[in-house]
Amino acid sequence: MLGKMMHQPLTISSLIEHAGRYHGDTTVVSVETSGEVIHSSWGEVEANARKLAAALARLGLKTGDRCATIAWNNRRHLEIYFGVAGAGMVCHTINPRLFPEQLIYIINHAEDQILFLDQTFLPVAAKLGEHLKTLKHVVLMGPRDEEAAAMVDGLLFYDELIEGESDDATWPELDENLPSSLCYTSGTTGNPKGVQYTHRTTVLHSIAGNQPDGMALSAKDTVMAVVPMFHANAWGVPYIAAAIGCKIVLPGPNLDGESLVKLIDGEQVTVALGVPTIWMGLLAALESTGSKAESLQRTVVGGSALPTVMIPTFRDRYGVELIHAWGMTETSPLGTLNQLLQKHDGLSDAEKGKIREGQGRPPYGVELRLIDDEGTRLAEDGETQGNLQIRGHWIVDTYFKADGTALTEDGWFDTGDVATIDSDGYMIIRDRSKDIIKSGGEWISTVELEDIAISHDAVANAAAIAAKHAKWDERPVIIAIKHEGAALDEAALLAHYTGKVASWQIPDKVIFVDELPLGGTGKVLKNKLRDQFGEVLLDVD
Ligand code: ADP
Repeated sequence: MLGKMMHQPLTISSLIEHAGRYHGDTTVVSVETSGEVIHSSWGEVEANARKLAAALARLGLKTGDRCATIAWNNRRHLEIYFGVAGAGMVCHTINPRLFPEQLIYIINHAEDQILFLDQTFLPVAAKLGEHLKTLKHVVLMGPRDEEAAAMVDGLLFYDELIEGESDDATWPELDENLPSSLCYTSGTTGNPKGVQYTHRTTVLHSIAGNQPDGMALSAKDTVMAVVPMFHANAWGVPYIAAAIGCKIVLPGPNLDGESLVKLIDGEQVTVALGVPTIWMGLLAALESTGSKAESLQRTVVGGSALPTVMIPTFRDRYGVELIHAWGMTETSPLGTLNQLLQKHDGLSDAEKGKIREGQGRPPYGVELRLIDDEGTRLAEDGETQGNLQIRGHWIVDTYFKADGTALTEDGWFDTGDVATIDSDGYMIIRDRSKDIIKSGGEWISTVELEDIAISHDAVANAAAIAAKHAKWDERPVIIAIKHEGAALDEAALLAHYTGKVASWQIPDKVIFVDELPLGGTGKVLKNKLRDQFGEVLLDVD
C-alpha cells in the first residue's frame, strides 16, 4: 500500500453538522410570515433538520424523492433545506409568484411527493390541490392551526411533524453524487426547465464561492439573504453560512426598503445579498429613514445588471462596498464575482469603481469562453462580444428528466448571454441574446441603455426594449419610472444619452410608466414589455 487519504463524501448533512457542532449557539434570525422576529440558533436548526429527516423517512419518503417548498426565507425553510437533503431526498424550492399553470406543471413534472408551505400560500395550495397528481402530503410550516386544517384535506403541521421525533435521530450516510435540490428556471418562454444539484456540486460551490476573493463570509459576519430561497438556492448562502457558522438573517415576506433597514440596524447585518431592485428600494429607505446602515460593509448584487450609479452612492454615502456577481440557475448559481487584483492597488476609487461595474471573474472551479454563432472561439480582449459559455464543477449537464444533454459537443454550457471578457478574465454581460437590440445589423445593449437611464436623478427604474422598426428592424425604446414628484420629459431623458453612447444607439422613444412588470425573482419581464410596447415605432419612419 503506497499510502492513502481518508475519503469522506461531500454531503449537505456534513455542512449542518459542522454548524451545529462548532457554531451551535450562533444566532439564526427569522422573520416569520406573521412578521414576528424569532431568534433561533444553528444548534436548533441542526436538531430540527435532523428530526425532519427522520420524520420524512417515517412518512415513507424514499431516497431521491422530491420534497417541494413554497415559502419565504425563514428558519423552517432553512431546516427543510438541510433536513430534506440530509435525509437523501431532494429539496425542490418553488417560486410562489409563478402562474398557477406553471406551478401545476412544475409540481407534476418534478413528481413532488410532499409540499411544505408558508401560511401565505395555503389558499394557492387549496386551489391547485386536485391538479397535483403526485402529492401525498401537504405540510403547513408552523404549529397546528384549525382554520388551515379546514382548507386542505389531511394537512400536516411542521412543528407537530418534528416534535414527534427523538433528539437522538442521526443523519444517514449518503453518496455525494446523490441529488440534493432542484430548481426550475422561470421559463419566460416555453416550459420551465429543472436543474437538479447534487450534494457534491453544492458543497464544492459553497467552498469555492466563499474564498476571500469570492463572497468572503466569515464566522464574524452577520449575513442577510434577501435573495429568495427559491431563487437558485439563495445563491448558496444557506450552505455557505452553515459551513462557516456565521449569524444569518432570513427576512421573511417583507422585502421593502424600510423593513430591510430595520433588520440591518436591528441585527447589525454586515453582508447582504440580493437583486438590484432590492438595493434601489433600500437606498430610497435609507434616505427617508435617515439610517446610515452603519453595520453594513458589503452587499453582493446579481441576478440582473447592477446599475453603475449604485457603486459610488453606496460607497460614498454609506461606506458600503458593492460586489457584482453573475450566475444562473444552471450554474448553482455562482459563475463570476467582481473583486480586484493586486495590480489594481494604485488605482483611484473612480478607476476601481469602473472595473467593478462589470460582472467579474470566475472563481476556481469554473471556466468561461466566448463563441460566435459558428462555434469559433473569440478573442478575450474586452471588446469582442460573443455567446458566453461556461463549464465547471457545479454547472448543469442535463436538465431534469430531459432526453439529452444541455451541453455543446465539447462539453460547455451555452448561457444565452452575450458578453465580453478581457485579458484578466473580467467578464461583462452585454445582454441576454434574446433581449439585445438588432438595429440595422448592429447590436445595441439594453443593459447599457438602462444603466444610463437609471443614472439620471429623476429616474427610479428603467428598461430598454427592442421595438420593431420598418427600416432598421429593431430600435431601442426606454420604458421608465420617474421618482415621485420628479419633473422629466422624453426630450430631457434622451438628451441625457448624448455623449454617453454613439448617436445611432440613442433610443428612439421614451415611455413613462408607473411600474415595470417584475418576475418572481425581481427581474423586469422584458418579454411582457415587448408585447405591450414592441410595436410603438411601427407607424414612425
Ligand atoms: P431566469 O432565467 O429565471 O431569470 P436565472 O436567475 O437563472 O433565471 O437568470 C440568469 C440570467 O440572469 C443570466 O443568464 C443573465 O442573463 C442574468 N444575470 C444574472 N446576473 C446578472 C448580472 N450580474 N448582470 C447581468 N445579468 C445577469
